[in-house]
Amino acid sequence: MPKQPPTTSKQSQTSTRPPIVTIMGHVDHGKTSLLDYIRKTKVQAKEPGGITQHIGAYQIDNPQITFIDTPGHAAFESMRARGGKVADLVILVIAANEGFKPQTEESLQHIRDAQVPFLVAINKIDLPDANMVLVKSQLAEAGYPTEDQGGKIISIPVSAVTGQGVDQLLEMTALLAETLELKGDPQATLEAIVIESELDNSKGPVANLVIKNGSLKLKELIHAETINCKIKAMYNYLGKPVSQAGPSDPVQILGFSEVPPVGAQVHSGPASDLPAAVKPALPAIIPTFNTGSLPSEKILHAVVKSDVIGSGEAIKYSLPDGVVILFQDVGDISENEVMLAKTSGAQVIGFHVNIPKTVKELAETEEVKVKTFNIIYELLDYLKDERQRLIDPLYGLVVKSKAEILAEFKINKQRVVGGKVIEGELTKEDNLLILRNNQVIKRAKFKSLKQEKKEISKARQGTEFGAIFTHYVDFQIGDTIIGYD
Ligand code: GDP
Repeated sequence: MPKQPPTTSKQSQTSTRPPIVTIMGHVDHGKTSLLDYIRKTKVQAKEPGGITQHIGAYQIDNPQITFIDTPGHAAFESMRARGGKVADLVILVIAANEGFKPQTEESLQHIRDAQVPFLVAINKIDLPDANMVLVKSQLAEAGYPTEDQGGKIISIPVSAVTGQGVDQLLEMTALLAETLELKGDPQATLEAIVIESELDNSKGPVANLVIKNGSLKLKELIHAETINCKIKAMYNYLGKPVSQAGPSDPVQILGFSEVPPVGAQVHSGPASDLPAAVKPALPAIIPTFNTGSLPSEKILHAVVKSDVIGSGEAIKYSLPDGVVILFQDVGDISENEVMLAKTSGAQVIGFHVNIPKTVKELAETEEVKVKTFNIIYELLDYLKDERQRLIDPLYGLVVKSKAEILAEFKINKQRVVGGKVIEGELTKEDNLLILRNNQVIKRAKFKSLKQEKKEISKARQGTEFGAIFTHYVDFQIGDTIIGYD
């Protein structure tokens, strides 16, 4: 990218800088495909090897644009939460065959909150059921009429698969950016934002930054919040070592003393002369926010371990309602998290991390739920379902029968249930939930199911039965037994 290197004199070199663009939109509407298509076709193909490194962002030349290539609003949100606004403008992707979806609305909310200009890429127009009219009318309904409807919103039909419309999208993005008159000056005070960070086994803390103003030079001392960095190595998006970088450039930097949090703002000089500043959000006990006045038994508590800070932040900012993270950190799941979850009634959730066998065994004996995921949406769906089950224990279950415990007998020192089937047919093989006041007190199976001293395989609605569970259940008269698939 043609950019004047900073000179030794301090004279200002203010000039227009390329826009920094993020792509937002609903899952599966084509954010990744669009970013991939643009990267494949527009990033300096002439570069030897022609392969870009993943450093969280890349640049194209004609027109000049810096794309943040971690799509989605989660990263965007975590940046905004730290006061940083990395994107100058947003491309909102809406699939023409689906139109508005929940995350389309969410994206618009983020765009409004952050007051960032945006344009719309109506994607998947190669599909036979593409319906541009629908998307445009939905935009108008949401208060964003497009230009051809007499409004101001630029919308471009595109296909991330065939490439149709992509050039026009890029041109319009550059045009919109021109109206923003974005200025950068390599001599100005440094303003940069951490867009990704992780701990690399061999390289130590690695941080990907985007520079909004000023420049970065090798060996220079900088800091992100309280974390210092003497820049040991710096790479551009092609993975090439560079000695300096300027406005709108994304770079990867080695030399931070710790992993800086995503969204942290980066400034020149050491952090030590700062007043007692806020520590990074991770690892941290995160207070129980976003639950309003929910009683605690309606809140699902989680202990989250993720591979990198960025993914942890993404989870944190996308949590379903009623889910609260008690603690989160990076790295594999350890006995500490299992015990913390045990004492606080939480579940342990892992993202792109492992759970050693001994830790898994501990979780089993302590009856702590531990789940790991590799796809963020599956993780979030799981949390949502678990939260639902907390409120409604029968959520998502195929309930086959319901019985009430009416009496208790002791036979050979074993506690025997005397019950009555109220609904459906109770079978000996059913999985069982024992409920008290609509809360699950135990999961169980029958060891024995009897009517009139005869072992039976099923008890019909309205009949009474005697039963013994395979494992000890501290049941009471009045408890409900639910049989489910
Ligand atoms: P993201 O979740 O928004 O990043 O969506 P992806 O880029 O992963 O795309 C989701 C699915 O839609 C993938 O199977 C893509 O191949 C497909 N897809 C994305 N863009 C287009 C498009 O323009 N046309 C068609 N036909 N399929 C697309």
